[in-house]
Amino acid sequence: MELFYDKKTGWDKLDKKACMDYAEGYKAFLDAGKTERDAVSYIAAQAESKGYKEWKRGMDVKAGDKLYQINRHKGIILTHVGKASLSEGLRLTAAHLDAPRVDIRTVPLYEQEGMAYFKTHYYGGIKKYQWLAIPLELRGVVCVCKDGKITRVPVHVGDKPNDPKFVITDLLPHLGSDQMSKKATDIIKAENMNILIGSIPSENAKEDEKDKIKRAIMEYLHENYENMTEADFLSAELSCVPAYNACDIGFDRSFIGAYGHDDHVCSYPAATAMFDLTETPEHTAMCLLVDKEETGSDGVTGMQSHHFDTFVADLCRAQNVLPEECLENSICLSADVCNAFDPNFPEVSEARNDARVGCGMAIIKYTGSRGKGGTSDATAELMARVRCILDDAGVVWQTGQLGRVDQGGGGTVAKFLANRNIDTVDAGVPVLSMHAPFETISKLDLYMTHLGFHAFYRA
Ligand code: MN
Ligand code: MN
Repeated sequence: MELFYDKKTGWDKLDKKACMDYAEGYKAFLDAGKTERDAVSYIAAQAESKGYKEWKRGMDVKAGDKLYQINRHKGIILTHVGKASLSEGLRLTAAHLDAPRVDIRTVPLYEQEGMAYFKTHYYGGIKKYQWLAIPLELRGVVCVCKDGKITRVPVHVGDKPNDPKFVITDLLPHLGSDQMSKKATDIIKAENMNILIGSIPSENAKEDEKDKIKRAIMEYLHENYENMTEADFLSAELSCVPAYNACDIGFDRSFIGAYGHDDHVCSYPAATAMFDLTETPEHTAMCLLVDKEETGSDGVTGMQSHHFDTFVADLCRAQNVLPEECLENSICLSADVCNAFDPNFPEVSEARNDARVGCGMAIIKYTGSRGKGGTSDATAELMARVRCILDDAGVVWQTGQLGRVDQGGGGTVAKFLANRNIDTVDAGVPVLSMHAPFETISKLDLYMTHLGFHAFYRA
C-alpha cells in the first residue's frame, strides 16, 4: 500500500521504442498543420484513410459507424459510434487547433523607405519580442472575388525547401540601449510588427509613381494567386507562423521542440487514439478539435459556437434520443496543455502541484486566476473516475496546475463544455516555453497522453 502521492518519472515504465516511433508521426503533423486549416485537412485525410466517412445530416447512426464533420475548414469532429445508445452519453475529448501567431491585416500592403511590408495583428497571447528576427512562413487562404465568382486560393509560402521566407526585423544591440531599458511588453509595439516582404520596384511603374515596390508585389501576387488584386486581401485569412520544423531536443532525444505544441500536442493524441480503437467502443467516442481557443473560444468555429450542439442533436435525432440526456451522461477530457515546472523559473511555480516533464499526462482539476476565477473546477467524483480509468490502463499520469496562486493563470475550453452540463476535466501535456514560437515537450508525456485518451474512449 503506497501511503504517499508523488510525481515520478515514467521512463522506467514504458516501451521506449513505441514512444519514440509515436513521436515521429506527431512531428509530421506539427510541420503540416501549423494553422487550424492545415491541421483540419491533415486530420481529415487521416480519418478517411482509417475508414471514417463524412457525416451528412439524415444519415443512420449505428454502432461501429466512424464519422467526421468539418466546421468551415477550421474545426473537425471525429465520432466512433458505440454499442450503447447515445442516451448513455459520450466519451468526449476537446482540443484546439489554433496557436498563437501573427495574422496579416485586412489592408496589409504598403511600402516605406525602399521596402514593402504587410501590416499585422497578433493572434493569441504572445511575448511580441519573441517574434522578431526569426524566419516566418505565410499560410492561409485568399478568396478571390471576380465577376460574382469566388475562387478559394490556398497560400503556403516558406514551407518548401527552396521557398522564400519572411521576417519582422529587430533593432541592433549597438543602437538598442533605449530599447533594452524598456519593459518587455514595450520592446516592440504591435503596430511596428510589420513583415518584410520585398524591395524590388516594378518595371511597369510610371516614372513618378510613388509605390513601385508595392506595385511589383501586387503584380507577383496577381500572377501567382488566381489574378488576385489588393481588394482580395479583404476576403483572405493569412497568418505568419515560424518557418522551421519540429525537431528532437537533447542528446537522448527525449524532447520535441516545435512551434504550436499548444495545442497540437493534445489534438494529435486525441485524434490518433480514436483511429487506434480496434473495436467498437461501449460508449460513443468523440474527438472535438476546435478553433479560436487562443482568443477566448468565441465565434462560429470556437468552442462557444453551437456547431457542436447542432452536431450532437443531429446524431441524437438519428437514434431518437434527447440531446440533453446525451450531454448529461457524457464525460469530457478538455485536452489542453499546462505549464511544466521549469527550474530556471521556479519563482512562478509551486513544486508540489505543478506538472513535471517526463511524469506523464497531466490532469488539471481547475484552471482560472485570482481565486479560481473562470474555472469549471471538475468534481471530486469525476476526478475519481478519471483516476481509475488511467490507473487501470497503466497510464503514467500526474496532477498539474497553472503556476503559483495569484501569479497569473488562464483557461481552456473546459468551462464551455461543463456549462453544457457535461462533466469535464482538463487533461494534457506539460509544456516548457508555452506560447513561445518554439515550445518544448517530453515525448513520454505525449505518448502517455495518447494512451490515456485511448483508455478514456474505451471506458
Ligand atoms: Mn491551449
Ligand atoms: Mn494557449
